[in-house]
Amino acid sequence: MLKPTQAYCLLLKSFGPQGWWPVTRNGITEHRGGPKSEGEKWEVVVGAILTQNTAWTNVEKALAEMRKQNSWSIESVATATEKKLEKAIRSAGYFRQKAKYLKETAKYIQKNYGSKIEKMFSQPIGALRYELLSLKGIGPETADSIILYSANKPRFVVDAYTRRICGRLGWPHSTYKETQEFFESNLPEEVKLYQEYHALLVKLAKRHCLKREPLCENCPLEKNCSRPNDA
Ligand code: SF4
Repeated sequence: MLKPTQAYCLLLKSFGPQGWWPVTRNGITEHRGGPKSEGEKWEVVVGAILTQNTAWTNVEKALAEMRKQNSWSIESVATATEKKLEKAIRSAGYFRQKAKYLKETAKYIQKNYGSKIEKMFSQPIGALRYELLSLKGIGPETADSIILYSANKPRFVVDAYTRRICGRLGWPHSTYKETQEFFESNLPEEVKLYQEYHALLVKLAKRHCLKREPLCENCPLEKNCSRPNDA
């Protein structure tokens, strides 16, 4: 069976670094270095909530509209009316629910951390994850995306793409936890590695390992895939 470290090397060699998660700097989407400032870290949190059940291109439109309508910072999201937020994030789908989730998260950070997101992120991973999961609209995948890409802490993100690929490679994929533990126990505990690996799996799923019919020809893992036809 292909080892996770071998798969990573093959994917990286074939697709190159993905530099995920993008942040906006000087009005330009930047795919390098990840979030640095408080504002950029908040942007990743907002993106992680908005990307639930929708394509990233729709999230980008919603993020741009939030900025345009001045419903952007933690304070402005916390105090904006739900109607205003809904209007700004309409392109991301499920906009009524997501407006509530964003508002609740912003109000929570404002009330408990004086709107300082880094203060919230200063706690250990377990406590931070527990707290994130207590917020409405934040499930394991969103919480782990925030921990990995915004807080810059090592927690492997599992999404539907990851589990689909794992199923086809013969890797554990029955539950979120099982898949997460598989990666975390087979990889060095490195933030950049976890970030890049997740992004490479997303790329693989979109380019080759499609839901209905995988396009195995020229897939970087084709030679080592133990169940290429078990879709
Ligand atoms: S060889 Fe086919 S089934 Fe295996 S990972 Fe690649 S696309 Fe998916």
